[in-house]
Amino acid sequence: MLNRKVIIAIADGLGDRPHPLLGGKTPLEYARTPNLDRLASEGITGMMDPIAPGIPVGTDMGHLILFGYQPHDYPGRGPIEALGIGMEVEPGDIVFRCNFATVDTNGIVVDRRAGRMREKTDEIAQAINGMELEDGVVAYFKPATEHRAVLLLRGAGLSDKISDSDPKAPNDGKPYHHVQPFDSSEEAERTASLVNLFLKKAHTLLSSHPVNTERVAEGQLPANFILTRGAGKMVNLEPIAQKLKMNVSCIAGESTVLGVAQLAGYKTFTDRSMTGNIDTNIELKAKLAIEQIADNDLVYVHMKAPDVKGHDNEPIEKAKSIERFDHMVGLIRQELPENVYFALAADHSTPCEVGEHTGEPVPVVIAGPSIRRDRVLQYNEMDCAEGGLGHLSGVDFVRTLHDLLGYVKKQGN
Ligand SMILES: [Zn+2]
Repeated sequence: MLNRKVIIAIADGLGDRPHPLLGGKTPLEYARTPNLDRLASEGITGMMDPIAPGIPVGTDMGHLILFGYQPHDYPGRGPIEALGIGMEVEPGDIVFRCNFATVDTNGIVVDRRAGRMREKTDEIAQAINGMELEDGVVAYFKPATEHRAVLLLRGAGLSDKISDSDPKAPNDGKPYHHVQPFDSSEEAERTASLVNLFLKKAHTLLSSHPVNTERVAEGQLPANFILTRGAGKMVNLEPIAQKLKMNVSCIAGESTVLGVAQLAGYKTFTDRSMTGNIDTNIELKAKLAIEQIADNDLVYVHMKAPDVKGHDNEPIEKAKSIERFDHMVGLIRQELPENVYFALAADHSTPCEVGEHTGEPVPVVIAGPSIRRDRVLQYNEMDCAEGGLGHLSGVDFVRTLHDLLGYVKKQGN
């Protein structure tokens, strides 16, 4: 048995389109990337559609697939968010993404983000965490980054087929919405009424909370309401790591990626210096990747910045963030043990001219021990389209990696 392993470096939102500011090149073509190009010239390349051609995916779905799941395994954004901030999520739990918000006495949403509140959200959250609702249903509540938070309802017979309380409109005098069931099931009606009960109780508790009294005294908006959206029911998914009997680590700064990694049963590593932007600590990421591959079969190392620059419509900045990614890949490559494949991938395209995810494929590479090389010498959207892996789906790409490790069962006899 060959003791082979894989490190995969993922550049979030890497794929792009030719841009006039870059002389008609994509940010990846424009960037100076000696390390990425070296892997392309030593390995096999191709173009990967996360799901299928022309289907844009979110970072959560893109990583779900890169981590070895099928698209239909998607558990919803709420459960992933909850896992990403370290909440325990059980099958049947209903999870919502939330904002701390400010409402007036008539329930009009004065600010959907409570003045983009950042401080003392922990204290406020504590006041409503563990609230017992009716029929043994308990509400768990935890703050996420800045004004964001997660609400989790646990109990028997709950449904995620309910509407949002978040009006999502700009702060233009709209009231928050009463949560309604989307279908006529008893579960949906009951869950909607439990969420409304939670919102009412939370509003009462938060209105008189010392942190809010202090905020009002300082002329800031109080966080006196919780806006809920995107209810999702946690499904019963077997962690991939357990199913394949693989040991896997994931190194990332972004909670969404960490949440999907938790779902997959991967060990997660993060640090405050992994910022999710261009200044992220690539030295630490590279060091952890090398350390982790010693005891694992597979290590994922993620960098968020290219996606952020794509959303910001900044092609030159995106190219710079790709050069940082290249540098990180170079640091890993220097220390790479001989039995380890090094793969490059992305979760989706985020073209700078669009500022959103699109359905175009992303370039991928696999380099390493006795790999079948192709003739491609550079890592970018144009050259990798000529590669030996051809055009493949995310599921096919991950299976190819698992097969190199000897984890794919032979069909037939
Ligand atoms: Zn992404």
